[in-house]
Amino acid sequence: MIGTELSLQTVSFYVNGKFTNAEGRPVMPIANPATGVEIAQVAYASAADVDRTVEIAHAAYLKWREVPVVDRVQPLYRYKALLEKHANDLAAALTMENGKTADDARAEVRRAIQMVEVACGMPTLMMGDSLNDIAAGIDSHTIRQPIGVCAGITPFNFPAMVPMWMWPFAIAAGNTFILKPSEKVPLTPTMATTLLHEAGLPAGVFNLLHGDKVAVDALLHHPLVRAVSFVGSTPVAKYIYTTAAAQGKRVQALGGAKNHLVVMPDANLEKTVEAIIGSAFGAAGERCLAGSVLVPVGEVAEPLLALLTKKVNAMKLGDGSQQGIDMGPVVTKEHKARVESYIEKGVAEGAKPLCDGRAAGRDGGGFFVGPTIFDNVRPDMTIAREEIFGPVLSVIRVKTLDDAIALVNQSRFGNATSIFTGSGKAAREYSARIEVGMIGVNVGVAAPMAFFPFAGWKQSFFGDLHAHGKDAVMFYTEQKVIMSRWF
Ligand code: NAD
Repeated sequence: MIGTELSLQTVSFYVNGKFTNAEGRPVMPIANPATGVEIAQVAYASAADVDRTVEIAHAAYLKWREVPVVDRVQPLYRYKALLEKHANDLAAALTMENGKTADDARAEVRRAIQMVEVACGMPTLMMGDSLNDIAAGIDSHTIRQPIGVCAGITPFNFPAMVPMWMWPFAIAAGNTFILKPSEKVPLTPTMATTLLHEAGLPAGVFNLLHGDKVAVDALLHHPLVRAVSFVGSTPVAKYIYTTAAAQGKRVQALGGAKNHLVVMPDANLEKTVEAIIGSAFGAAGERCLAGSVLVPVGEVAEPLLALLTKKVNAMKLGDGSQQGIDMGPVVTKEHKARVESYIEKGVAEGAKPLCDGRAAGRDGGGFFVGPTIFDNVRPDMTIAREEIFGPVLSVIRVKTLDDAIALVNQSRFGNATSIFTGSGKAAREYSARIEVGMIGVNVGVAAPMAFFPFAGWKQSFFGDLHAHGKDAVMFYTEQKVIMSRWF
C-alpha cells in the first residue's frame, strides 16, 4: 500500500530519476484536515535545488527531443496502466491530505487518468499542415517542435489532476518538466511520481520539487525554463504571468473564480437543487468551478431556496474517507479561519444566513466549515465579489434573464457559470452573451474534459493558450513553416 508508506515519511524531491532525501532543507508539517493530526512532513526546495534541477532537465531535454514521438508516449501508456491499478491508493492519499470525500477523490483521479490518455495521442496531435504547389513548384508544410524545459506550479485543490493538465502533454511533445505542486498537498503528486518512476521514463525528463515562493521564483527567473504553466489564486497568477512573460517565457496562468448559477423559473427544481449542492458544496467549495453565487430569476427564488435549504440541512459532514459523507473539511486550519471570516463579513454587511456553517467547526479536531447559504446578498457585498473558496453560497435575486446576464458580466472573474432552464432559447442567449469561459447548461460544474480546453476569461486567466486539449499541444510546442522548392 503505497499510500500508507508515504504518509509516514518526510516527502522530498524527485530529480534525475531518483528520490532525494530532505537533508539540510526546511521541513513543514502536513495535517490530515479531517482530524488535524500530522501525517507527514514536506521538504522545501532552495533556489540552488531549482538551479540544479533545471540544469538536469535541460540536459535530459537535449536527448528527449530526439526520441521519436511514438516512443515518447510509451511510458505514458505504462503510466496509465499503473494509475488504473493504484487509483484507489492515490484517491486515499488525496482524501487524507486534502479532505475531499472518497468519491470526489476517485473522480479526480479518473480525470487525471484521462489527461494521460489524451496525451498518448501526441503523434496525431502534433501533426502539422501541408499544401503542395503554394506557388509554381513550391510545397509548404508546418512542423511542431518542443520548446525545452517547462515548469508547472499547481494549487492544493486538485493535486492529482491539475499537474496532469500540464506535464503529460509537455513531455509527450518532447519537452522536459519540473513540477512544483502545492506545499499543502505534497503526498498525492509524490505518490503519482513513484508510479511514473515505475513506468520507466528516462531520468531528468520529469522532476518534482516541493516548496514555496522561493522555489517558484527561482523557476520564474531561470533562463533555461522556457514555459511556465500555473494554476492557483488570481494575485499569484498575475504575478507569475507578469514576471515570467517579462523574461520572454511562454506563460499560461489560471486564476481564481466567482461562478454564478442562474436559475430560470422553468428549471427542473429537483435536478437543479441537486446540481447546485454538488457545485457549491462538493469538495467543500474548494473548486475553481464551484458555484458560489446563486441567481434565481423571478418567482423561482422561494421554492428553490426552500428545497435547497431543506436538502443542505440534511448533508452529512465528516472525514471524507468514511462511507456516507457528503462533505469533508477544508484544507487547513488557516483556510478554515479565512472562510469563517468571510461568513462573519457576510453577516456584518447585512446578508441573511439561511444556513450558517460556522457551527459545524466548533466540535472536533478537523478543519470543518458547514455548508453556508446567504440570502439577500447585494452585488456590492464582499461575499458577492471575492473568491471565498469554501462552502459558502451567496444568493442574489434578480427579476429577468437580462438582469442575470448584467450581474454575471460585472464580475471581474470569468471562469465558469451555469444556467438551469427548460428553454433552449434562454440557454442559447445566456451562452452567447455571458463573458465567461466555461458554461454549463443544466450542468452544475462545467468542467471540460481532457480533449477540450480549460478556458477561463478575465481575471480567471492570464495568457493565450488554455490548459489541456489542443491548446496544450500548441502551448508546449513551437511551430515552423517550411517552404521547399526542388530543382
Ligand atoms: P495559491 O495561489 O495560494 O498557490 C498556488 C501555487 O502557487 C502553489 O504551488 C504555491 O506554492 C504557489 N504560490 C503561492 N503563493 C505564491 C507567491 N507569492 N509567489 C509564488 N508562488 C506562490 O492557490 P491555492 O490556495 O493553492 O489554490 C486555490 C486557488 O487556485 C483558488 O483561487 C482557485 O480558484 C484556484 N484554482 C484555479 C483553477 C483554474 O483552473 N482557474 C483550478 C484550480 C484552482
